[in-house]
Amino acid sequence: MYSENAWKKYTDKELKDLFKFNDEYIEFLSNNKTEREITSYSVKVLEENGFKDLKTLTSVKAGDKVYAVNRGKNVAAFIVGKEDIEKGLNILGAHIDSPRLDLKQNPLYESSDFALLDTHYYGGIVKYQWVARPLAIHGVVVKKDGTVINVVIGEDDNDPVICITDLLPHLAQDKNTKPGTKVIEGEDLDITVGSMPLKDEEKEPVKKLILNILKEKYNIEEEDFLSSELEILPQGKARSMGLDSSMVLGYGHDDKVCAYTSLRAVLDTKETERTSCAVLVDKEEIGSVGATGAQSRWFENVIAELISKSKDGYNDLMLRNTLTNSYMLSSDVSAGFDPLYPGVFEKKNSSYLGKGLTFNKYTGARGKSGCNDAMPEFMAMIRNVMDSNKISYQTAELGRVDQGGGGTIAYILANLNMNVIDAGIPVLSMHAPFEVVSKADVYEAYKGYIAFIKDIK
Ligand code: MN
Ligand code: MN
Repeated sequence: MYSENAWKKYTDKELKDLFKFNDEYIEFLSNNKTEREITSYSVKVLEENGFKDLKTLTSVKAGDKVYAVNRGKNVAAFIVGKEDIEKGLNILGAHIDSPRLDLKQNPLYESSDFALLDTHYYGGIVKYQWVARPLAIHGVVVKKDGTVINVVIGEDDNDPVICITDLLPHLAQDKNTKPGTKVIEGEDLDITVGSMPLKDEEKEPVKKLILNILKEKYNIEEEDFLSSELEILPQGKARSMGLDSSMVLGYGHDDKVCAYTSLRAVLDTKETERTSCAVLVDKEEIGSVGATGAQSRWFENVIAELISKSKDGYNDLMLRNTLTNSYMLSSDVSAGFDPLYPGVFEKKNSSYLGKGLTFNKYTGARGKSGCNDAMPEFMAMIRNVMDSNKISYQTAELGRVDQGGGGTIAYILANLNMNVIDAGIPVLSMHAPFEVVSKADVYEAYKGYIAFIKDIK
């Protein structure tokens, strides 16, 4: 069902299922905003659904369901297939980090009787979108003795929120003549967190009061910021959007919408011929680097462990063969066509909200640079499986040629010599504090991911 509006095909029963699935997604997105939160959530639901920690098993066999976790920030879930694992896996890979503001290592200061927190933004944000809106703090502070303190401030109705202030239009004559990238600059993204001085305190009394509150509530001292990972995120829940409730407005659809649908595809599938997998990674928004990014050896190590526990006489060639014979959907969002900005898109090769799961054969910029350009043989297999499962799907490029561009984790896994293609959900306002997706696309992606893990061979 190539390039047709999916909404037209649903029966009443299907519409009911679609809205129910999206209600569950909205709840997930509202309650899980960071990599760590999504990893803990995933482990919880995986265990509830009979998945076992691979580390605790000495052997695995066809039909077993297992998972692995990396540093609290990556998770991979597997359904062990009936077929020899060396024939390859069907993998769904998504990222669970989203653009945001991170606190600097020495963030807290006082200025003109205000206490402020200094930040360094994470990923590609449009800076002026982050001011004058309620923000929350999510993350961890690790004490010198190794104790990890979980912090979430601003989501509970009784919590205060925090905010970056903006200049009133009455005095913005100079500011408003600046180009968009300079209206709010990186060092302007400091968050106001206090304005009340501690009584009888001479030196920095407002900052001192904030430190007292942190000490009392969380046992955090100022130096503990040095070993913290505190993310400043848009406060509030995801919501149904549109008078017809056909869309979802929420923080971090990129790429939690593909992460959720990928995870659900594996959770809701009983058994598969080939070993199937959903893997959720970190750090995509800053280049997939580091021990928890897609470039980490972790995923390869987990597959090696899985092979060694499912076959006798493990050797390196078995791992190489497994990777070579694997198929992967790099489940990541696509730029949805926006009628307010038609000029940056090329209409024939754009992704439209409501037309279903979007395949990007390639991404990249300036002459496809840096992209994974999927094999046409693989794309043909995909077309066959999508059509035979009646999945609504479409194909797209990321905007007009030379208008910009972007990348995903696709090329990283393709470097292990497996077939990979980008497949995700179109998003409007991508990387903004609140992004938009169509409920039909969320549902089609979920169904399409199930079809992929079951039927690609
Ligand atoms: Mn993404
Ligand atoms: Mn992104």
